[in-house]
Amino acid sequence: VFDHVVRAPEDPILGVTVAYNKDASPVKLNLGVGAYRTEEGKPLVLNVVRRAEQMLVNNSSRVKEYLPIVGLADFNKLSAKLILGADSPAVQENRVTTVQCLSGTGSLRVGAEFLARHYHQRTIYIPQPTWGNHLKIFGLAGLSVKTYRYFCPSTRGLNFQGLLEDLGSAPSGAIVLLHACAHNPTGVDPTPQQWEQIRQLMRSKALLPFFDSAYQGFASGNLDIDAQPIRMFVADGGECFVAQSYAKNMGLYGERVGALSIVCRSADVASRVESQLKLVIRPMYSNPPIHGASIVAMILKDRNMFQEWTIELKAMADRIISMRQKLFDALRSRGTPGDWSHIIKQIGMFTFTGLNSEQVAFMTKEYHIYMTSDGRISMAGLSSRTVPHLADAIHAAVTR
Ligand code: PMP
Repeated sequence: VFDHVVRAPEDPILGVTVAYNKDASPVKLNLGVGAYRTEEGKPLVLNVVRRAEQMLVNNSSRVKEYLPIVGLADFNKLSAKLILGADSPAVQENRVTTVQCLSGTGSLRVGAEFLARHYHQRTIYIPQPTWGNHLKIFGLAGLSVKTYRYFCPSTRGLNFQGLLEDLGSAPSGAIVLLHACAHNPTGVDPTPQQWEQIRQLMRSKALLPFFDSAYQGFASGNLDIDAQPIRMFVADGGECFVAQSYAKNMGLYGERVGALSIVCRSADVASRVESQLKLVIRPMYSNPPIHGASIVAMILKDRNMFQEWTIELKAMADRIISMRQKLFDALRSRGTPGDWSHIIKQIGMFTFTGLNSEQVAFMTKEYHIYMTSDGRISMAGLSSRTVPHLADAIHAAVTR
């Protein structure tokens, strides 16, 4: 009965790893997936995470009962404070409802399902370009997905005028997906002044902000600075959605730990919204997993562990920044044609190199370097050892 099923294409991002795994070359390099690697090219489990796990294992009174539908209460409270700020009036006034979800993706999806059921405007604007999954997450939830201009290929910076024009002509009340920091794939973020203009425009048109925060701490190395755009929107008293992921900043990728926070106008509205979120979640997966959220809650709650986390997080962010400089210097020293300053200007895990799909295909074929066809490379996957190989490949691709 399934003879008619046609083979689906690989996911454009995860498919890069599938192709990489099939390559037998000793010099192969995977810069496709946005997962942190050490200088030795190895995945990293943070020391503070190992410590928290050890404490969980040693706690013999710990059980494996189901969590409530909305997840671990401590985790939710601490996650809201982490992103909105401990002194956030919205948190203090109980106007925020936070539910533990399956990492960033699950948080976005639960938020999208809630909006499709309970929000009067069914149109969401996502940046062009954006993380490929956004289109599918919001589309499959039943929202109508449109794009706003974001990136300017010629300057390899923000198309701020285009962004303002597109949001300015969006219908009143439309939802707008915003990357909180370290925009994926471009690595280009608005300045604080530009954020303020975006906020004013959006509030004047009653556009609903939906922040995707997948890289808090990875852009500047500071958790509070990276949350600033969100806090600006919350400070004006208006509504706001936030999807948080602990995949990158705590290295908990496979544990699937994240949270959806909805900032409402009053505590009463927030509690009614939460009651409806439960109806969204229950038929999807009943309740979220306990292990990862317990790790996060322990680290966020304990002053020493929190401090240790921020140091380890900053070290990851700093290593990525040093890879930017190394790659830039390597291209300079090869005399590679073109202005490569965007490599050091862009922010977060990725560089949007400007290489086209043919050049990418050439680099994969001749140099065994894997990346998404839009020319995005994960700086977190590079090391001092592999930078020269990448620089050789880029040089060959652009001088071919
Ligand atoms: N949003 C953005 C912009 C991302 O880059 C990612 C991860 N690649 C996610 C959300 C979600 O990741 P996860 O579900 O692993 O938390």
